[in-house]
Amino acid sequence: MSHLLPTYARADLAFDRGEGAWLVSTDGERYLDCHCGVAVNALGHAHPALVAALQAQAAKVWHVSNLFRVPDAERLAARLCEATFADLVFFCNSGAEAMEGAIKVARKYHAASGHPERVRIITFEGAFHGRTLATLAAGGQKKYLEGFGPVAGGFDQVAYGDLDAVKAAIGPETAAILVEAVQGEGGVRVGTPQFLRGLRELCDANGLLLVFDEVQTGMGRTGPLFAHQRVGVAPDVMGIAKALGGGFPVGAVLTTAEAGKGMTPGTHGSTFGGNPLAMAVGNAVLDVMLAPGFLEAAQRKALLLKQRLAEVKDRHPSVIREVRGEGLLLGLACVVPNDRMITALRDEKLLAVGAGDNVVRIVPPLIIDEGEIAEAVDRIDRAASRLEKAAADEHQAVPTKRTPDDTPSLEGIKG
Ligand SMILES: *Cc1c(COP(=O)(O)O)cnc(C)c1O
Repeated sequence: MSHLLPTYARADLAFDRGEGAWLVSTDGERYLDCHCGVAVNALGHAHPALVAALQAQAAKVWHVSNLFRVPDAERLAARLCEATFADLVFFCNSGAEAMEGAIKVARKYHAASGHPERVRIITFEGAFHGRTLATLAAGGQKKYLEGFGPVAGGFDQVAYGDLDAVKAAIGPETAAILVEAVQGEGGVRVGTPQFLRGLRELCDANGLLLVFDEVQTGMGRTGPLFAHQRVGVAPDVMGIAKALGGGFPVGAVLTTAEAGKGMTPGTHGSTFGGNPLAMAVGNAVLDVMLAPGFLEAAQRKALLLKQRLAEVKDRHPSVIREVRGEGLLLGLACVVPNDRMITALRDEKLLAVGAGDNVVRIVPPLIIDEGEIAEAVDRIDRAASRLEKAAADEHQAVPTKRTPDDTPSLEGIKG
């Protein structure tokens, strides 16, 4: 038996190594990776620049604490600010921790502005912000909150995309609006430019901070370095993580100087946050992503993949009902249960990841090439055919009793 706390519904599959867009299992099979460790390995596996950066740093110094200067952290912070709206960066180790930090920044800003009563944050149905107690409350999903005691207060949830509902939820205690430009775990639901611009306007009119959760959408996943740049809406505060370290655990809170004005010495901290190993890799990730033409090339490949997936959908309307998403954060909204589709894809040696709304996320690395895209499309097409055939066979056969094991839960995959 396994001594791991059984909080995940794991597939019985383990990997020995990776190369670019491919993962090799311990039994020697090659899988095309359109899962990327839930949108983390944006530069694929064993990228030479990342391996070199980590190995070089590992031979120098791993950890010193934030009670000393970390030159690579200063450099990475400066580069992230140069590329975005932000003036200041706080480094941490995960997405949830970045969002906790972002929530603290937003509340402290109002306290420092003479309005300590402004603590409430408007969030959206279908949101996912992490698994800590405050980020769970922000996400508001009952099934994740049940049994864990009092729900952290101060979050008001409204329907995603509904500006009137946001307006109605704003009160004298509102501090901020927290939103994903594209809801990833919620089912690859894309926020429209009008919605995101409307949020900015409501924040400006009411003295609120706009906080973006770009933990999943960040670092080129949806096209530009950050998803909000596509619609030209700048937040005041932003949390990032997943792709920032290309697989090395790291997160960050980015803020304007004004929004971050309450965060003085002693107000926040993290022992491991921004340590030399994480910063070496983060800088190497930026070296690759900010090289001229890199994000544009990924965007071209993303358009190609989306077009080809739309053709697959047209060929298999009884399996896939919609292709959605931006850039290389794509979702197949399924007719069949999404876990059956994921299993069929795995049988075709392609890895994909589930999401809410019965969606299968197709999130390949940004370095995937056109041949690999064609290969991915073929495998997805074959998996859809497999499911059609299975449905036809089931229709023919005498109905058999299903055991509970036939329908594994996707619960454990999230977050
Ligand atoms: C994954 C995710 C998180 C949580 O990140 P962890 O590193 O798992 O804590 C938060 N927000 C969004 C949008 C995410 O996709």
